[in-house]
Amino acid sequence: MLKKSANVRTHQGRRAPDQQGFLSLITGSFSTPAGDNPTVAMVEAAYKHHHLNARYLNCEVAPQALGDAVRGARAMGWIGFNCSMPHKVSVIEYLDGLGSSASLIGAVNCVVRRGTSYIGENTDGKGFLTALRTVADPAGKELVLFGAGGAARAIAVEVALAGASSITVVNRNPTRGSELVALLNEKTPARADLVRWDRPYRIPETVSIVVNATSIGLSPDLAGRLDLDLQSLRPGLVVADVIANPPRTCLLRDAEARGCIVLDGLGMLVNQGVIGIQYWTGIEPDPAVMRATLEGLFAL
Ligand code: NDP
Repeated sequence: MLKKSANVRTHQGRRAPDQQGFLSLITGSFSTPAGDNPTVAMVEAAYKHHHLNARYLNCEVAPQALGDAVRGARAMGWIGFNCSMPHKVSVIEYLDGLGSSASLIGAVNCVVRRGTSYIGENTDGKGFLTALRTVADPAGKELVLFGAGGAARAIAVEVALAGASSITVVNRNPTRGSELVALLNEKTPARADLVRWDRPYRIPETVSIVVNATSIGLSPDLAGRLDLDLQSLRPGLVVADVIANPPRTCLLRDAEARGCIVLDGLGMLVNQGVIGIQYWTGIEPDPAVMRATLEGLFAL
């Protein structure tokens, strides 16, 4: 006999489409290359755990096919989807609106169907913030942020809106760095400044939280190290890395050896997935199930 699926409400309190019989809720991801993206395993583990008749389809979508992919999702009634590289900015032209932080960040990684509209959200920074709050509240704190790309922009905007007092952006490319600093100074309450990263960086003693939002250390760059004066990593400093694969980067190992409180990139990955599932289905998925799935994949 067929089991009737869970009765699902969206986060806005509206009832999601009936999930009876053979009709699943459809979500997924559009990116290229898509083959190494573990999100499908993490999200489907949550769907299974919560007995949701829902699927997450990891789709390889070339830049020139993105418009057709979004039109296809609309035609098939997808309840939402993630966008990853290289579509986080280009997807905006195919959407009906943006959430407030996605609009500030200028990039979308999560599209949510609300009524008949597809609305772009950015859950990268929100996921990071949720993970960060398990070890430190950024309100009133000074941060150092390495990087000024998409992940750095999302993190910087969310920690600024969460009340960080100042953010020092340390980036190799000064143009990219100053664009992020200008965005923070003009559109958020945080004070921001730029340090051009052309020598080993020393963390000032007034700083409480350090974030690596560059791709240094991402597999296969396992020995990748930030150009950083390790002596300036002091006990009690919070050091967070966005790199999820591998979760234990050289930065986190160096920081742990010097008594810092460390936070790996799995927390951000899991929590952006949690927020996406909340947006799409209205359920509160269990982050532990999602993290355990990723740890199994990365053989931790
Ligand atoms: P981008 O390409 O937009 O930005 C990359 C950033 O890294 C730039 O600031 C770039 O500096 C800097 N960078 C790269 N290599 C070096 C180097 N050798 N030395 C100094 N700086 C360097 O990428 P994203 O921001 O989208 O992603 C960054 C990382 O974040 C990726 O590894 C991704 O896996 C991770 N990520 C993790 C997520 C999670 O959930 N855990 C979510 C999203 C991303 P410059 O401007 O000078 O070129």
